[in-house]
Amino acid sequence: MRVNKNYIGGEWVTGVDVNLNINPSDTDDVIGEYARADGAQAQCAVDAAFDALPAWAGYTAEQRSDALDRIGTEVLARREELGRLLAREEGKTLAEGIGEVVRAGRVFKFFAGEALRLSGERLPSIRPGVEVDVRREPEGVIGIITPWNFPIAIPAWKIAPALAYGNTVVFKPADLVPGSAWALAEIIVRAGTLPAGVFNLVMGPGSKVGDVFARSRKVRAVTFTGSTFTGRQVGLACMERGAKVQLEMGGKNPLVVLDDADLPQAVEVAVSGSYFSTGQRCTASSRLIVQDGIHDRFVEAVTRRLASLKVDHALADGCDMGPVVSQAQLDQDLAYLDIARQEGAHVAFGGERLERGTPGFYLAPALLTDTTNAMRINREEVFGPVASVIRVKDYEEALSLANDTEFGLSSGICTKSLKHASDFKQRSAAGMVMVNVATAGVDYHAPFGGRKSSSYGAREQGAYAREFYTGVKTAYTLA
Ligand code: NAD
Repeated sequence: MRVNKNYIGGEWVTGVDVNLNINPSDTDDVIGEYARADGAQAQCAVDAAFDALPAWAGYTAEQRSDALDRIGTEVLARREELGRLLAREEGKTLAEGIGEVVRAGRVFKFFAGEALRLSGERLPSIRPGVEVDVRREPEGVIGIITPWNFPIAIPAWKIAPALAYGNTVVFKPADLVPGSAWALAEIIVRAGTLPAGVFNLVMGPGSKVGDVFARSRKVRAVTFTGSTFTGRQVGLACMERGAKVQLEMGGKNPLVVLDDADLPQAVEVAVSGSYFSTGQRCTASSRLIVQDGIHDRFVEAVTRRLASLKVDHALADGCDMGPVVSQAQLDQDLAYLDIARQEGAHVAFGGERLERGTPGFYLAPALLTDTTNAMRINREEVFGPVASVIRVKDYEEALSLANDTEFGLSSGICTKSLKHASDFKQRSAAGMVMVNVATAGVDYHAPFGGRKSSSYGAREQGAYAREFYTGVKTAYTLA
C-alpha cells in the first residue's frame, strides 16, 4: 500500500512512522496508510511557512481569491468521491459525508470573495492635518489543529480564511481521520498552485506536532478545535509566548421543549440535533429539557422515531446513523451510560451495542429519562448518540437549567410562543441560539462559536473570521 505523505516546504515528505486509517463501520477495511511526522518535521514545516510569508505577500488579493476559487471548484466537483471517503473513515452516513464536503467547497468559494472584500477605516484626527488609517494585515504563520468529527469542513473553515487574508499555514488533522485531510491538502497544493511553504500538511500526534505549533515563536496564531482539556493546554502554551489563540471546544447543549411546541417538529429537531452524525457534534443537543405537560408524549414520540432509525455501515443503503468513530469513543459512550444508570437514570431506548454485517463500533441511539441537571450525564460531554431528558414545570425553570452548565456553545427551544422565543434568544447563555431548529447545523457564512468553557477568542466563519486571521494596524500621517 502506498503511504500518503506529508507536504512540507513544497515537497511530499515521508514521516517517521505510519498511521493506519481504519473504517469504523468495518475494522477489516484499511482505508490507507498515512505518514506521521515528529516534532522536528513539524518545526521544518513551521520554518517553511515562515520563510514563505514574503512570497505570499507578493500575491494580489485577486490571485489569492482565484486560488481559493479553484480549490472550492474541485472540492465541489468531487463531492461524491470525497463524501464517500469521509463516510468511510469517520462513520457519518454517505449523505452526511457529501453534505460536509459541499460545505467545505462552499467555504472556499465564500473566502475567495472575502479575500477581495477586506476593508479598513479612515478616522478624523484630533490633530490638524493628520490622517488616521486603520488597516488589517495578515498575522503571519497560522497553526491549525483540528478534531476528527468534521474531517474536511473544519480544516476548510480554518485554512480558507487563513490563506484568503494572506497568512501561511501549518495544518495538523486528527490522527483518526487523515484521509479527508490528505485529499483536501492534495487539492490545495495542486489546484491552488501556491508558492512552496504557503500551505503545509503535517499529520502526526498532537503531543508532538500540535505541541510544536503551540510553542514555536514563528507561529503567530493558533486556531484549535477539539476537547476542552486539550484546548486549554494549547491556549496556555500560546499565552505563555504571547501568541494569538482561538479555541473551539466541548458542549453540553440544551434543547428546551415547551408545552406549546409543535410535537412532530420538536421530535425532528431533537432527533436530528441529538443523534445525526452519531451524536458526535460539538453542537449536538445532549440535554432535552422538557415541560411537564408535553413530557410523556414527547418521550414516547422520540422513542418511536429512534426505533425507526436504521443504524448500519455508513455506506449502506438507507443508513440513518453510522457507527461510533472508534473503540475508545465507544468505550467512553458505554461508560457514561453505566454512570447514568448508577445515578438513577432510566434508559427509555437503546444504549446497547449492535452487531451488523461487518465488524464495527455500532451503538443503538440512547434516550435517558428521569435525569436531573446535577447528574454527571448532564454535566460532562459524552460525544456520542446519547441524550437525556430533564423534566421541568415551566419556562423559567427550563431557562435556568439550560444555562446551568460550564459550557455555552449552542442552545435551542421548541415553542410557538413569540414571547418565550424572544426571551430565550436574549437570556440564553450560549453563543448560538436556535428557535424551532436543531442545535446542530449552522450556516457557513454566519459567525460560529460559543461562550464559557466552549470557546475562547474570536469567532470563526463568515466575515467575522477576519478578527482572528488579520491584525489591526493604526497609521498616522501628516502629509
Ligand atoms: P482532542 O482534543 O483529543 O484533539 C483535537 C486535536 O488536538 C487533534 O488534532 C489532536 O491530535 C490534537 N492534540 C492532542 N493533544 C495535543 C497537544 N498536547 N497539543 C496540541 N494538539 C494536541 O479532540 P477530538 O477527540 O479530536 O475531538 C472531539 C472534541 O472536539 C469534542 O470535545 C468536541 O466537542 C470538540 N469539537 C468542538 C467543536 C467546536 O467548534 N466547538 C467542533 C468540533 C469538535
